[in-house]
Amino acid sequence: MGIRVIAEKCSGCKLCVKACPFGAITVTKKLARIDIAKCNFCGACVEACKKFNAIELIYENVQTVDKSKYRGVWVFAEQKMGGISDVVFELLGKGRQLARSLAEPICAMLLGDQVASAARDLICFGADKVYLAESEQLGVFIEDTFTEVVTGLIKEHKPNIVLFGATSIGRSLAPRVASRLETGLTADCTGLEIDPATKDLLQTRPAFGGNLMATIICPNHRPQMASVRPKVFKPVQRNELRMGRIIKYDYKNHTLTQRAQLLAVVKEAAKTGGIAEAEIIVAGGFGLGDAENFKIIEKLAQAMGAAVGASRRAVDSGWVSLPNQVGQTGKTVRPKLYIACGISGAIQHLVGMQSSEIIVAINKNPQAPIFNVADYCIVGDVLEVVPALTKEIEKIRLAEQDELTVTDGELESQLVSSGVRQS
Ligand SMILES: Cc1cc2nc3c(=O)[nH]c(=O)nc-3n(C[C@H](O)[C@H](O)[C@H](O)COP(=O)(O)OP(=O)(O)OC[C@H]3O[C@@H](n4cnc5c(N)ncnc54)[C@H](O)[C@@H]3O)c2cc1C
Repeated sequence: MGIRVIAEKCSGCKLCVKACPFGAITVTKKLARIDIAKCNFCGACVEACKKFNAIELIYENVQTVDKSKYRGVWVFAEQKMGGISDVVFELLGKGRQLARSLAEPICAMLLGDQVASAARDLICFGADKVYLAESEQLGVFIEDTFTEVVTGLIKEHKPNIVLFGATSIGRSLAPRVASRLETGLTADCTGLEIDPATKDLLQTRPAFGGNLMATIICPNHRPQMASVRPKVFKPVQRNELRMGRIIKYDYKNHTLTQRAQLLAVVKEAAKTGGIAEAEIIVAGGFGLGDAENFKIIEKLAQAMGAAVGASRRAVDSGWVSLPNQVGQTGKTVRPKLYIACGISGAIQHLVGMQSSEIIVAINKNPQAPIFNVADYCIVGDVLEVVPALTKEIEKIRLAEQDELTVTDGELESQLVSSGVRQS
């Protein structure tokens, strides 16, 4: 890829200088000059120079593939000890929508040792076909072996789109596969759609430090590859009646190179109230003012049986630890209820929580961007609202407990007073 300034057309107006986000353009002697070392060919200057058409991107030697040969939306079915990761069911849900728009099948590829029963699960969760590669050598994830098998499968069957979970396995595997196939990969997508005109995959993800959302396309190569973090999309419902095909992938074991050797698998210590799986999250932000005040978030979370989340500013201030951070550089969450307290709603925070089922926001600024994604907006001081909420919830909890621990005598008199039973 290249870029050039057409000297005869350039007026030296400097519109391109203002448009370039990388400071790659200078104008000397009424002629724009582009520093190729700084340019990343984003095209912002070409757009800004539309009036003069003095800058053009040069698409030299772009080898385009025959797109008609590529069909199907594929999901890499990550599994551990035969248990399919939840992100796979989320990708199958989104993948089905994409496949429907393209009128193409949705397939999963499953690698492992004695994992055939999980292949049936993938069909129940929406896969039309499951490509199954089983062997002892695939019993645990090793980059070399998995890359070879996945690349081999893709080369043989030519899917149009391949989706990976942006987990530690997906993040390690997907770039290797993309590089071997000489195609692109968009990591950590937050949105995937099909362009109705071109049928290309529109891959949306935060860019420029999360300050804007970029939609990326892969128009000249196939397959189109993307990774998506867990909890970004809704999982598809299991349907026992679904029918599909399991296709065994026959590969020669001895062709697999394996430079790394697995010495031991060390189980992670038991999780303590992590935010990733929590159904309710109470999250606190910089609006709480200090570490002492942050404790009201923990109290509310405790009263509700919720996990504690936080914005990056709260984490950076040392009020709460990094595993609790929600957002672009923290975790993506999708609880049933997300209560954002004293959080402004910066885009980097929103990308991590905006798919929560119900969002309640408490902020003293009625213009706070968090209110744009909230279902319930409470304009007020967190230091007043949160303790009041906690008190009410504790009252309800106590009343529930009282109801449960009612004595036989009390029950009898309640039944009599409510007219259910005669005295
Ligand atoms: C590359 C990059 C990655 C990032 N990743 C993340 C990420 O993963 N997660 C994340 O959260 N951020 C992330 N950020 C930071 C993000 O841009 C914001 O700075 C951050 O989310 C702001 O945190 P906050 O809302 O707690 O603080 P602020 O923006 O300071 O907002 C505080 C809010 O509290 C309100 N408030 C103040 N006092 C009260 C009160 N008494 N009662 C009620 N409301 C009150 C204010 O009105 C304000 O809206 C990232 C930034 C960059 C550049």
